[in-house]
Parts: sequence; structure tokens; C-alpha cells
Amino acid sequence: MSTPIPATLIPGDGIGPEIVDATLAAFDALGAPFAWDRQIAGLGGVQAAGDPLPQATLDSIRRTRLALKGPLETPSGGGYRSSNVRLREEFQLYANLRPARTVIPGGRFDKIDLVVVRENLEGLYIGHEHYVKIDEDPHAVAMATGINTRAGSRRILEYAFETAVATGRKKVTIVHKANIMKALTGIFLETGLDIYERKYKGRFELETIIVDACAMKLVLNPWQFDMLVTTNLFGDILSDLVAGLVGGLGMAPGANIGADAAIFEAVHGSAPDIAGKGVANPTALLLAGALMLEHVQRPELARRLRQAIDDTLNVDNVRTGDLGGKAGTAAFTQALVARIQGGA
Ligand code: NAD
Repeated sequence: MSTPIPATLIPGDGIGPEIVDATLAAFDALGAPFAWDRQIAGLGGVQAAGDPLPQATLDSIRRTRLALKGPLETPSGGGYRSSNVRLREEFQLYANLRPARTVIPGGRFDKIDLVVVRENLEGLYIGHEHYVKIDEDPHAVAMATGINTRAGSRRILEYAFETAVATGRKKVTIVHKANIMKALTGIFLETGLDIYERKYKGRFELETIIVDACAMKLVLNPWQFDMLVTTNLFGDILSDLVAGLVGGLGMAPGANIGADAAIFEAVHGSAPDIAGKGVANPTALLLAGALMLEHVQRPELARRLRQAIDDTLNVDNVRTGDLGGKAGTAAFTQALVARIQGGA
């Protein structure tokens, strides 16, 4: 038995507790070494403690430096600021890694194996926004400021390039909009080209592309890409697009990585439309669990988990409704646990 690894567990809102339970069942079956500290955030935090990001949750992550998180609800328009964004800022989780790999063959796009690396802290997500009142309209004008720094661009581009080398990626594509936002996204492009020339030339191919063209090419021929690295807003949008190539949000895991902590989650949100119905697909969070196992140097457990997911979906044909199947979350989890226990 290996030494337990302390980790924070945030079940989250909406379908969060359902998919977190499924992931814990899979971890138990694998004998994953985590010692969980259960905490709250998001709407659950507001309801239980009057705070979408309670101090106890922050303290826990500061101690464990590792978390598995269900989705957290954020009100649109007004209300409290996203706890996800605040967590990324608090722990300087500057890299958002979103791998997309075809798990179910025969879909509209087959054999996809793509990674989106998204800058997680800067750009237009810094929250410097305000309205200007004109006459009687308090929302007559809306303004937002975006900030990208040389240091922040260098940090994420180096993370992407190092990850590309470590995982044998052949090509990295820098996605930008430097033709229009010449300074805001130009700094990112310029920094990437400079680092590549000085440190990475010859280790993989580097190409650059404007974000709108990238969106089109991802739909026409996604196989031309290997790893995309981009700024915060573009990365948010493109990683959902890429999730769509492999069967939708139910299949897309995400890792938020920083120097001081790492938080693993599904790319999707709390899915309030299906919360509590027992129909959510837990695969995205399970795949995030596999990334977490790799992060703590347990690649063999990650491999077994991915294999069991593949077998449950493709050999046993047990699938949730979003994938055209009839299984609920509990039936899928039961089949997955049986696969883990039956597998090597
Ligand atoms: P969403 O991702 O929650 O849902 C979009 C659609 O996908 C819905 O129809 C939903 O039913 C479906 N879906 C999502 N996950 C699924 C799953 N695992 N299985 C089956 N179907 C699934 O997006 P939304 O409705 O725009 O957002 C809801 C809330 O989640 C918002 O408050 C938003 O701010 C929040 N959110 C949180 C995160 C996060 O915690 N990282 C990410 C995105 C959105």
C-alpha cells in the first residue's frame, strides 16, 4: 500500500456530486492513493457558508496543493465572480491543459488526438470591466480591458513547448488574432516565435494561425493539428470546439496547472438542466482523474482507468444518453467498476 496523497475534493454544483461519486467509485476500485479532504465552493459554498469560495476551501488546497473539482455554478451577467476564475488566480494556475482524444470510434470525426493549452490567468478574463451610464441608461456602454504580459506569455508558451517535447508532439500551433488585436495578442505571438527560435527549433514544428481560420480548419480537417497553444478567451472557445470533435463536453477533461497547485476538472459546467436526474456522463471527470493520476506519478493507474473507460463504452456498449446510450450515471459507473476490477 502506497502512502496516501492528501488531496482536496470539491463535489461542486448541479451534476457535480453525481459525477464526483462516479469518479470516487472508480478510484476506489483502482486503489488510487488519495486521502480526500472534502470542501465546498460555488453555489454550494454560497448556500452553506455564504461564500462561493470559503476560506476553509482555500486553506485546504494551499495545504494539499492538489484538487479534484466538480463544476461550479456562476451566475451570468451579475452576481458573484466565478469561483473557477478566482481559484486559478489564487493558486496562479496559469496553464489549462485540455486533451481531446477519440474514445468512441465511428463518430463524425475519428481518431482525434489533440491537445489545447490555454493561458489561464490573463487576457480578457482579468475582470476589469465596467459600464458607463449615459442619460437614463446605466448600461449604455460596456468596457473591458485585456492584459497579456511578456512574462505570462513566456510562462504558458514554455509550458506548452516543454509538454510537447515530453509527450512527443510533432507540431505546435500558436493561435492568435494579432492582425486586429495587434498588441494584446501580438505579444503572445511574438514571445512564442522568439522562444521557439532560441530554445526549441528542430524539436517540433511550429506554426501560427489566426483564431478564426483555426476554428474553420478544426472543423474541416482537425487532423492537421497536434497541439494548440493560445490566450485565455480563444483557448476557452477552441477547447469546447475540440471537445465537440470527440463526442461533446461529456468526454473532455481539463487540468489547471500552476507552480503551487494543480486542480483537475471536467471542461463542462454544472449542467443544471439534467442535475439530480442521474443521467450525467461522468467520463470527462473520470478522464480528468486519469490526468490527476499522471500528475502524481501513477501512470499505470491512469492507463488502467482509461482502458476501463474504453472497454465500458466500446466493448460493453454501456453509454449515457449524451452519447446515444440508455445507461444512467449509476449503471455506467457500475459497469466501469466491474471493468476496473476485471482488468489487469
Ligand atoms: P454546461 O457545460 O453545464 O452544459 C451545457 C450542455 O451540456 C447542457 O445541455 C448539459 O446538460 C450538457 N452537459 C454538460 N455536461 C454534461 C455531462 N457530463 N453529461 C451529459 N450532458 C452534459 O454549460 P452551461 O449550461 O453553459 O453552464 C452551467 C453552469 O456551469 C454555469 O453556471 C456556468 O458558469 C458553469 N460552468 C462551470 C464550469 C467549471 O466549473 N469549470 C465550466 C463551464 C461552466
